Amino acid sequence: MLEIKTVDETPSDEDYVFIFVKENAVVSLRRPPDQFWLRREVEHAFGKIGVGAPLGYWAGTPSYVVEVDSQDLDAMEHLSGSLYSLFGRVPDAVFAAYGRALQMLSWERDHKFCGRCSAITAPTDGGKALACTACGHSAYPRLNPCVIVAVGKGDQLLLATAAGRATGFHSTLAGFIEPGESAEQAVIREVQEEVGISVTNVRYVTSQPWPFPSQLMLGFFADYAEGDIVIDPLEIAHADWYSRNDLPTIPPPQSIAGQLIQRFFDVR
Ligand SMILES: [Zn+2]
Repeated sequence: MLEIKTVDETPSDEDYVFIFVKENAVVSLRRPPDQFWLRREVEHAFGKIGVGAPLGYWAGTPSYVVEVDSQDLDAMEHLSGSLYSLFGRVPDAVFAAYGRALQMLSWERDHKFCGRCSAITAPTDGGKALACTACGHSAYPRLNPCVIVAVGKGDQLLLATAAGRATGFHSTLAGFIEPGESAEQAVIREVQEEVGISVTNVRYVTSQPWPFPSQLMLGFFADYAEGDIVIDPLEIAHADWYSRNDLPTIPPPQSIAGQLIQRFFDVR
């Protein structure tokens, strides 16, 4: 897996370099996406690149991310695509490395100028922050914490389909944590807002970074307390209680939703 720590050595030809065109990862058609590009290969294919944003170390090798121009892609050699297309197709640690690369690149792209005084920023704190060259205001990568919750009622689980998003899945409920709110409070509020029921016994289970664009999904279990399902039609198309033997199509096991559903039924 990608070891996240400060890269403090001089860039070399043997560094790993993740490449993106805007939000799309660029992979070589000649090998699988978990054989990462070396810096010398990137420079051979795309010309001189900057040092790039440091990501940490993959198997002891310093790793960076750079953006290239779509015009420099060679259709016979390169494939660019959303990270969604890699999800579940590469090992989880490889997907997480691509996810970190995309988030660091997006953050750098969105913070070229100071949000306070609009002067140019430059990397500081070993590349972990961007600091304003005029006023010193520094910006760190922003994560958006979200809760995702498997609500149980006896041996049944609440699953819902989202309004306006044809994922084909029945999934657990999820939503962003509001400023000033605890994760547990967000669970209770989101469930109440989306399906009109109250829950109790909210407990943390696991988490997953989700780089679309920069969520940190915090997974919970909660128990049904009271109320009938009344969906918010702006958020939810359909919601109901399901048993192990009548499950609809659920998200894949690599996703945190899939993991919560699996863990719920593992003990029932
Ligand atoms: Zn400034």
